[in-house]
Amino acid sequence: MIDCIFCKIINKELQGHVVFENEGVIAFLDIYPRSPGHTMVIPKQHVSTLGELNEKSAADLFRIVGKLSRELRSKLNADGLTIGINEGDVSGQTVKHLHVHIIPRFLGDGGGSVHSVVNNPPKESIESILELIRKP
Ligand code: 5GP
Ligand code: ZN
Repeated sequence: MIDCIFCKIINKELQGHVVFENEGVIAFLDIYPRSPGHTMVIPKQHVSTLGELNEKSAADLFRIVGKLSRELRSKLNADGLTIGINEGDVSGQTVKHLHVHIIPRFLGDGGGSVHSVVNNPPKESIESILELIRKP
């Protein structure tokens, strides 16, 4: 049995401020919100990385990310959103159950862009990196 706080929210063993739920996906408010409406959208399947989801589950997850993005923007009158996944310890993932953060953004909120999370440009050429990625 996996000891996971997000699985406990899914199984209703822990209370979550659930904003959406269907068969495969649940979304709830972050307990330490970085902005009003900071929401996490997660698959009910316990995986820690996006790459572990099959195509259908990933599509189901991101369909709901899209739906909630529209709703959060309009209902909270947000000026924009930052949408992101921390994957792996190096990126700051603290809960090892895949979750997509939707963070509503407001003019003057003092936040940065996704570019502010790291600045580690490659020493190699962009072409050589491309070759590595495209190699079968
Ligand atoms: P990570 O750093 O892994 O991307 O994000 C984990 C998030 O989970 C954090 O933003 C943290 O505030 C949130 N979190 C941690 N414990 C709980 C909890 O028990 N309930 C809820 N709703 N959010 C939690
Ligand atoms: Zn879990």
